[in-house]
Amino acid sequence: MCGSALASGPCGADAVRPLVESVLGALQEGRRERGGPLPAGGPAVVAARVARALDEVLPEEGDPGALGELVRVLAAGAADPADPWCAAHLHCPPLAVAVAADLAVSVLNPSLDSWDQAPSASALEGVVTRALAREAGMAEALVTSGGTEANQLAVLLAREACGPGVRLVCGENAHHSLSRAAWLFGLPEPLVVPAPGGVLGASVLEGVLSEVAGPALVAATAGTTDAGLIDPLPEVAAACARFGARLHVDAAYGGGLLFSGRYRGLLVGLEAADSVALDLHKLGWQPAAAGLFAVREAGDLAVLGQRADYLSAADDVEAGLPDLLGRSLRTTRRPDVFKVAVTLRVLGRAGLGALVDRVCAGAREFAGLVAAHPGFELFGPPVISTVVFRPVGVGDDIVAEVRRRLLVEGRAVLGRARLGGRLWFKVTLLNPRVRDGEWAGLLRLVEGQLR
Ligand SMILES: *Cc1c(COP(=O)(O)O)cnc(C)c1O
Repeated sequence: MCGSALASGPCGADAVRPLVESVLGALQEGRRERGGPLPAGGPAVVAARVARALDEVLPEEGDPGALGELVRVLAAGAADPADPWCAAHLHCPPLAVAVAADLAVSVLNPSLDSWDQAPSASALEGVVTRALAREAGMAEALVTSGGTEANQLAVLLAREACGPGVRLVCGENAHHSLSRAAWLFGLPEPLVVPAPGGVLGASVLEGVLSEVAGPALVAATAGTTDAGLIDPLPEVAAACARFGARLHVDAAYGGGLLFSGRYRGLLVGLEAADSVALDLHKLGWQPAAAGLFAVREAGDLAVLGQRADYLSAADDVEAGLPDLLGRSLRTTRRPDVFKVAVTLRVLGRAGLGALVDRVCAGAREFAGLVAAHPGFELFGPPVISTVVFRPVGVGDDIVAEVRRRLLVEGRAVLGRARLGGRLWFKVTLLNPRVRDGEWAGLLRLVEGQLR
């Protein structure tokens, strides 16, 4: 019965401890094998290594060594966000303490679809989500799998509040999940507002709103995926108020600025939103998933109410057992909020704020190097922790090719962004532990590819 010990129960710790040790060892081995921010050789080489390790997916007889072996292969083929040159996406290196907290969740396996599967996890979720909602000027929040699900809930709630004809109005800088949510929930084709400088302009938005016949849901972005820019929230909110439009702010990226005394002022206006999306698996250093959907009026969430006799019978609810089904569109649901609760308590506002400040400072340092270099141009000064730049005097094809070459050789993971009609390199800095000289080295690496 090798390998079939349980993680919880009286012998759980004894079963898990040596396995965790072997996982940690295999992670080290795999990382050494990889040697850089991602595996060298590209998709075919990685796929071949995986295929070798998994020559039989379901062997007739089990192999206890498969844990270490597969963890080693996973790590050897990982894009490691803890490497400073792995900086393409809003893909953060998770905090050790959050990962350890998540282990407790995996062991106990609470499920947030009914109180009798998650007594303290559900109570904790209520306390933590309300506190985080208040940070954003909202009343209540639900836990989501990320910004995508939060944006879907925003669109769904707008449909319930305003009717199925509600028109989504968003900038061309908005996240793709918003227009997809409009499609998913059967709304009319969204109106996409041009944002040539990377952010919504309030007067352009007003022009568009003045032409919308029925109800509108405006989606603004605090921390655009491409450039890390923040739409002018107070002006956008004023335009929405003038035209009676609902306002959702997608702060999946920028929401983490709330932890920083230095940067939280960038989010002024957030409190005027009807709903807010916030991802702590970005500027919050959580392992995925750690999303939040916050609303200004807690009553708005009532439309998500749902009953199933086996999970939330009316007599159980009357007798005082909390009804959890209305807190998500999912049923079985892992308490992703637990690692968040632990992180908030262990680091405190000061600790999290310092991490935010450090990545924002890193972006300013890197942008300074780019600006001072005659061979590169900067799209604009970083607002959060994204730096968008390109080499001077080369075509988009070269930018695309250099990015791919660095990926395939396993040397750096840079992002790409199409802005103002041109293709740029994008560096999204979410690693707070970067040593001196790493950014200069990254710029030299890119420069070397252009010769
Ligand atoms: C990341 C991101 C999303 C999507 O969030 P997921 O957590 O990947 O679902 C949505 N909007 C913005 C602005 C984002 O940065």
